[in-house]
Amino acid sequence: MARVAVVTGGTRGIGEAISVALKDAGYTVAANYAGNDERARDFTSRTGIKAYKWDVADFDACVAGIKQVEGELGPVDVIVNNAGITRDATMKKMNRTAWDEVLDTNLGGCYNMCKAAWDGMLDRKFGRIVNIGSINGQAGQYGQVNYAAAKSGIHGFTKALGQEGAKAGITVNAIAPGYIDTDMVAAVPPEVLAKIVARIPVGRLGHASEIARGVLFLVADEGGFITGSTMSINGGQHMY
Ligand code: NDP
Repeated sequence: MARVAVVTGGTRGIGEAISVALKDAGYTVAANYAGNDERARDFTSRTGIKAYKWDVADFDACVAGIKQVEGELGPVDVIVNNAGITRDATMKKMNRTAWDEVLDTNLGGCYNMCKAAWDGMLDRKFGRIVNIGSINGQAGQYGQVNYAAAKSGIHGFTKALGQEGAKAGITVNAIAPGYIDTDMVAAVPPEVLAKIVARIPVGRLGHASEIARGVLFLVADEGGFITGSTMSINGGQHMY
């Protein structure tokens, strides 16, 4: 039977590319999203992948979401924690809400989703978890204290949970994308983006499909010896 994969934030951007790549590779995919129903409906009609709406920052919603997916599609073997937001501001202007929202979604969401699926993975002695970090969690970024802290936290979370899953056949890895051509990056002012692209040795933004390719590699059944690692996919921008 096909393995079941849940991709958070799986209806747009990098998550959409991951959902489609997993489906094309034979996985049964559940694509989670937060609230953009129009984009989710369009995604499902184009791809045939069912979309599930819940907030990854809400623990009870994640537990209920995993339960619903398991009831409809079967036990969840793969989780890709991709959902993420930005609320950029310098420390001078960053209020507590901007801090909490980013930490609760980008890092809290990883805990919530892993916790909700963990016991089932332990029982079945198989699991593949991929957490989407960021180059800005590795290198820091002006105006992103909240985002850099959350994404940096993902890398520690990955190494710690990787140790816990190791004997139970569960791998936990991270991907740290560089700048990828999605709605999130389209929100960056053009003059700032031009300076960013000038610092990417490959000379362009990445494509979402180039992150999906890394996910496919990490979640493969044959990937049992790869755990606690971070794969940097950034066009050579940050060699870490
Ligand atoms: P987008 O903004 O294009 O898409 C974000 C997706 O996450 C959407 O599907 C959105 O749902 C979903 N989402 C946001 N908040 C929640 C939530 N609370 N619960 C459930 N789903 C949620 O982002 P990208 O594709 O650009 O980024 C994907 C991931 O990659 C993020 O974690 C981001 O931080 C990371 N990343 C991106 C980089 C880039 O250059 N683009 C670089 C490095 C890392 P909805 O459609 O309903 O809003």
